[in-house]
Amino acid sequence: MTAAFTDSADIVHFIDGKPFQGAGERSQAVFNPAHGKEARRVKLAEKGDVEAAIASAKKAFPKWADTPPIRRARVMLKFLELVNQHKDELAAIITAEHGKVFTDAQGEVSRGIDIIEFACGIPQLLKGDFTDQVSTGIDNWTLRQPLGVVAGITPFNFPVMVPCWMFPVALAAGNCFILKPSERDPSASLLMARLLTEAGLPDGVFNVVQGDKLAVDTLLEHPDVKAISFVGSTPIANYIYETGAHHGKRVQALGGAKNHMVVMPDADLDQAVDALVGAGYGSAGERCMAISVAVLVGDVADKIIPKLAERAKALIVKNGMELDAEMGPIVTKQALERIEGYIATGVEEGAELVVDGRGFSVPGHEAGFFTGGTLFDKVTPEMRIYKEEIFGPVLSCVRVKDFAEAVDLVNDHEFGNGVACYTRDGHIAREFARRIQVGMVGINVPIPVPMAWHGFGGWKRSLFGDMHAYGEEGVRFYTKQKSVMQRWPESTAKGAEFVMPTAK
Ligand code: NAD
Repeated sequence: MTAAFTDSADIVHFIDGKPFQGAGERSQAVFNPAHGKEARRVKLAEKGDVEAAIASAKKAFPKWADTPPIRRARVMLKFLELVNQHKDELAAIITAEHGKVFTDAQGEVSRGIDIIEFACGIPQLLKGDFTDQVSTGIDNWTLRQPLGVVAGITPFNFPVMVPCWMFPVALAAGNCFILKPSERDPSASLLMARLLTEAGLPDGVFNVVQGDKLAVDTLLEHPDVKAISFVGSTPIANYIYETGAHHGKRVQALGGAKNHMVVMPDADLDQAVDALVGAGYGSAGERCMAISVAVLVGDVADKIIPKLAERAKALIVKNGMELDAEMGPIVTKQALERIEGYIATGVEEGAELVVDGRGFSVPGHEAGFFTGGTLFDKVTPEMRIYKEEIFGPVLSCVRVKDFAEAVDLVNDHEFGNGVACYTRDGHIAREFARRIQVGMVGINVPIPVPMAWHGFGGWKRSLFGDMHAYGEEGVRFYTKQKSVMQRWPESTAKGAEFVMPTAK
């Protein structure tokens, strides 16, 4: 286990190729949510600490940007090898600070590895276009060049995968990167930084600043930071987008979600139940692609709610390091209280509480931040538990009469991250994929997280900005296109021209 994780010292920053204590005294507790106890403390950067990271990245940029893409790709290949070697260590760190079950954490690391593999193909991805003879003796081509210092601000729920949506592509494209991880589970960032250095990444090209709003605001306002990638809740995504744009930066800010799964009467209902239980309660519902609303069409509700209730009650909830665990604890006590508060609100609003996960206790882990799976029936669109993101293991069932009502319901929601439709009817599936106002659609796939080369992003208030994370859009986000038009003196006609150049 890496020292970054096990030693009792504070979790620090990583600047200029090494751990960096920082000037400030501020720190915050990091918990092991299964035990409910403070495990370590994380330093919270002061402005000067962030400025030191930016200065280090700025200094490293010219040489890294000039390094041939294939040599940058070789660093990524070595990093890929090291991450594979340390996969279980990263997964254990995730479980210890986030709480999700170990096998799920391994899956998270694997999905991060996918993007590192994608970034290894950067020479191909940076290839430009070339047109011979746009006019007599003149050629035109485009190339993509890195932006400079770019920053990523990431949420607690995927402390390895979400940073990997950003930095492998940004670095491979020739940028220098500053990661500001979530202060709730910051340790994985340091192991990744160490592995990047071991892979041969020059000092200063990748830096980590631990911190809170102060660190984020410094990154947003600093003129040497050229682009910000953000993933987190919608109010903060909105703030990041507006503030970053105000300071002249490129911004992609991915926000919150309320993902629906529509179950049509012709669907394989056993498959639909499996999908709802896995996607609703997996990772304790703390996934931006979790299914939190089941839209049950026609007579589906009466058929599947008893089955969902049985499964929700039977969930194996315990310390995520125990291999039979299906659901671990909630990340923090505050998050647990928020989730259980929403359950109380749902009851007050008149939803039918079929399974109540509140007050769940795990023997031997009585102080842990546990809640069981909760199931609501007869949820309606005006209820807060329908409108707002709960981000916990609470599945709300909404009954609708037909397909058209299901589509309208989904399309009227303010979020548009992910959605799924379970059906055996190809026409319904096709109509659904075409009509639905959501960025990522699953047909009989409950969590349709796009693969590394497709790019990830929601619609509506689930994404602020124009470009999705990773995939080719990620490469475009972290590079700017330059067009070069060239001719040589031998082919140049004599005399000044005063009209708009046209092909000759
Ligand atoms: P969060 O918005 O609280 O925090 C995200 C990041 O923003 C953290 O690094 C945090 O330190 C920073 N931050 C928090 N408050 C800030 C402020 N006032 N000013 C500046 N920075 C601030 O989100 P979270 O609780 O860590 O993560 C859960 C949220 O992330 C959920 O809403 C979830 O849907 C969303 N999420 C979205 C996606 C997606 O792809 N759309 C993916 C994962 C998570």
